[in-house]
Amino acid sequence: MKAPPRVVALVESLHPDAVKLAQELFTAPAYQLLLSPAQNWRESAHAIVMRTGSLTREDIEAAKCLQVVGKQGVGLDKVDLSAAKEQGVIIRNTPGINATAVAELVVAHIFAVARQIVDIGVRQRNGSVFQRHQCSGLQITGKTIGIVGMGAIGKTVARMLHHGFGCTIFAYDPFLADDAWSDVPHTRAQTVQEMLPLLDVLTLHVPLADGTRNLISMTEFKAMKQSCILINHSRGEHKHKTHYRGVVNEEDMVTALKEKKIWGVGIDALVYDPPTLEKYGDLWSLPNVVTTPHIGASTPQTQSESACAAVLNVWEFFES
Ligand code: NAD
Repeated sequence: MKAPPRVVALVESLHPDAVKLAQELFTAPAYQLLLSPAQNWRESAHAIVMRTGSLTREDIEAAKCLQVVGKQGVGLDKVDLSAAKEQGVIIRNTPGINATAVAELVVAHIFAVARQIVDIGVRQRNGSVFQRHQCSGLQITGKTIGIVGMGAIGKTVARMLHHGFGCTIFAYDPFLADDAWSDVPHTRAQTVQEMLPLLDVLTLHVPLADGTRNLISMTEFKAMKQSCILINHSRGEHKHKTHYRGVVNEEDMVTALKEKKIWGVGIDALVYDPPTLEKYGDLWSLPNVVTTPHIGASTPQTQSESACAAVLNVWEFFES
């Protein structure tokens, strides 16, 4: 008797390249593909491919046939990992694929804050006429950069800033072996605090966890140079939590900016995500704040590559 087909469901809208790849790979009679965004997948899916949505305990417990999840991107904060483990469901994400796109946005934020590009540009459009001396900024070439979290994104930022702009790199990541990234000359810091007074830019690339919540608070802002730029592209608490916190204590950050303890900030992942005027009006009224709404990986190239990798992860699970 022939085995019934494995049901693979694309549960969210994926990049068209990934949908096409899934149609090529998951063909009858071995597979049945439920196309994006598949409804009622819990009843029959052996595998799902997802992007940014949630996978709750309820989903996992209801999905009796589910064996594997192809998750586009690196973040697993909206996936109930303990439920998946209990039910024996394998979760495969696509680490590293979005690192170049995120790192490019980091570099864009650094320069935007250093040269006050957003403030000056907006005020110019609103009719302000500037003298050049009112628009002075900071140079980045040859400066000292501190990176917290030397994973895929942190390393890519280090390469871009060292090889592209001759920057000196300090890094803090207690979980990496000393020889884990020998291609960029750097100094390993034993603590975040010891490098703070030396830095022209501090950039954060860590997951939100017990050891990283509020990593940068008033004590750290006080230790930074007044000319230091803070960049944060690390995700904050997901909205199902009752207490919203992030790697940066945002209330302290607003105070530090008001008191001119630092030069400015560039942030792609605010704690309240998506950010609203109600939550961030105070921050957005301050000069030299550049924020974007969690768009680090938002290039068609990255979306295509990471969605295709998620589809391939499911394929390899069944075929290897
Ligand atoms: P990664 O897993 O490759 O790297 C994370 C690094 O952080 C690891 O090297 C780990 O050892 C280190 N780390 C963990 N806890 C630490 C601590 N307490 N102190 C210092 N280092 C610590 O992940 P990645 O792909 O580089 O992504 C990093 C973070 O960037 C993600 O967790 C996510 O929050 C964020 N992110 C943002 C976007 C965006 O669009 N803005 C996109 C992808 C990822």
